[in-house]
Amino acid sequence: MPHVRPFLLVSLAARALARAVLDTLSPPACAACDAPVRRDRVFCAPCAASVHRTANEPGAPLAFAAYGGAVAAALRRFKYGERPDLGRPLGHLLRGVVREQAPEVDLVVPVPLHPRKLAERGYNQAALLAQAAADELDVPLAARALVRLRDTTQQASLGRAERHTNVARAFVARSPRALQGRKVLLVDDVATTGATLSACRDALVEAGARDVITSCVARAGDG
Ligand SMILES: [Zn+2]
Repeated sequence: MPHVRPFLLVSLAARALARAVLDTLSPPACAACDAPVRRDRVFCAPCAASVHRTANEPGAPLAFAAYGGAVAAALRRFKYGERPDLGRPLGHLLRGVVREQAPEVDLVVPVPLHPRKLAERGYNQAALLAQAAADELDVPLAARALVRLRDTTQQASLGRAERHTNVARAFVARSPRALQGRKVLLVDDVATTGATLSACRDALVEAGARDVITSCVARAGDG
């Protein structure tokens, strides 16, 4: 079919042009250090060498990597450095893990911030990651499915058992009907003991979710 080829060439040329325009407007940069990278890369080569992928065990949150090196640097910039744009490349890392380990989910839900914290930061980092993962997995995002009733962000000073007590019942599902019978991918940026993810999972299951896969970009400590 010789007449098909010109269309194909036009389409490829249009795509290459769009890519060139995009690269000029926002040149792809390493998520940890801003060095130039290819558009399909999240980290530059030296930063990528500091990434330690994690073995994902049953029952533990799915995680892209251990918290440290370039992953920690990128997450700090994303969360505290007013870099919401990093949600997309970091969400892409999450997408890769989910595709490998939990290929079929119906809905993506982020761990919510307390409204006071959201007002301070201006964005919920978990919601941006969840948005990127939902886009790439081609499933709906339910950004406001969960509500945080208490501000439990002082977890860092607490031990493992105290963390679980601190976040227990801190979350509630806002729209149970949207969750009923669904297999939900729950997303956070970092998990330490997994207490927050587990409290959110309980709220989703209580609201009728069929199954909840917990996930995070990085797992700190013993997970
Ligand atoms: Zn770098």
